[in-house]
Amino acid sequence: MWTIHRSRAERLKYDEEAMAEIKELRCVIGGCRYARDEVTYTCPQHGELGTLDILYDYSALGASLDRDALLASRQANCWRYKALLPIAGESPVPPLDVGWTPLYAAPRVARSLGLDRAWIKDDGANPTGSLKDRASALVLARALELGITTVSTASTGNAAAALAGLGAAVPEIDIVIFVPHSAPEAKVAQLLVYGATVLLVEGSYDDAFDLCMAYCAAEGWYSRNTGVNPFTTEGKKTAALEIAEQLRWQVPDVLAVSVGDGSIISGLHKGFSDLLRLGWIEKLPRLIGVQAAGSAVLARAWQGGLDAKAISRAPASTVADSISSELPRDRAKALRAARDSDGAFVTVSDADILAAIPQLAQLSGVFAEPAAAATFAGARQAVASGLMDKEESLCLLITGNGLKDVPRARQAVSGGIRVAPTVEAVRSALNRASAHG
Ligand SMILES: *Cc1c(COP(=O)(O)O)cnc(C)c1O
Ligand SMILES: [Zn+2]
Repeated sequence: MWTIHRSRAERLKYDEEAMAEIKELRCVIGGCRYARDEVTYTCPQHGELGTLDILYDYSALGASLDRDALLASRQANCWRYKALLPIAGESPVPPLDVGWTPLYAAPRVARSLGLDRAWIKDDGANPTGSLKDRASALVLARALELGITTVSTASTGNAAAALAGLGAAVPEIDIVIFVPHSAPEAKVAQLLVYGATVLLVEGSYDDAFDLCMAYCAAEGWYSRNTGVNPFTTEGKKTAALEIAEQLRWQVPDVLAVSVGDGSIISGLHKGFSDLLRLGWIEKLPRLIGVQAAGSAVLARAWQGGLDAKAISRAPASTVADSISSELPRDRAKALRAARDSDGAFVTVSDADILAAIPQLAQLSGVFAEPAAAATFAGARQAVASGLMDKEESLCLLITGNGLKDVPRARQAVSGGIRVAPTVEAVRSALNRASAHG
């Protein structure tokens, strides 16, 4: 626990009252304001596009919290930031350790991009293997506060796995998942292993999303759907809080992150913005969103100077299933994240995404799923196109573990030498292999 102090002299232990009091929920489209319990999902005036920011009284928080006291925190998970999250201090949270994932210096990755400094934030190390655990942790904590017994989500896979996995650790809550029937087998297996009710929707992710929203409304279930539920953004922001703290509050110049619905990039922007408002960091990292060329609604809007209202649904197809989105749900916040941080969007081909998996793994030891490896390809693209300066430092956010999609990884590599089980056979096979370079 970190200490909180009301005056410099009188330091108190972090206690129940230390939760971040929500000042208001504010609509990203019209700036419409709501009180804490007035709205559950999006702005009633602006519909699904009007996603909400959860805002706090930053001067009160700044006066009562000391960033350096965090160093003493024994919470090796995202709850070390509970005082910056909209969950009461005494409220129960899912018991798995979500967050506080490793941040590695990655000098060989930096060199391969022509940069001086790079880091890898490995969110594949989360309990269910992706950054989505952060959002599910917050939503389940909120559901426990509200006494809700069924939580549901639509997902391309990882958000569902995160909800199912963390939900399995919270016996009071039942989990119902809507996934496209085409979701990778490993991800569907994960859901079933965790015991969630799994609906394999005959349609795209976007169809599953709309169906889930409609069913939750009809049944009174709580929806974890990306973007729509403002607690998901607050969960994802903890990745930004960790990066800042792990770098002793000197944030990287550029943070590259892959983008599907745009919720992760929005959460990062929210996290760094909260820290900036508290005066704990001096600038926002430039957020560079990486999209697959076959699922690039946001990148095209960015290049065309469109705003979120002008974006329409377009077909999506990519090997990186986690960033396949026909209509990015968090499009308004995602465009704002890039604009406000002086960032950008880039696109990368499926071939470059697949090639990035073994490249990144061999330069760092971190095995990323296609959507996560895309950030490495995207960073290369950003440097080549002059969107990123060679003097700038870079953090690559690795959003999901490579074991999530083994068939795609297998497509990216060849080799393996078949041998008879004798020393002689191994020696001659290795000699042959080295002769062939
Ligand atoms: C969900 C996800 C993304 C994209 O996040 P959005 O919020 O949809 O932009 C990227 N990588 C992985 C591994 C994911 O699971
Ligand atoms: Zn509004």
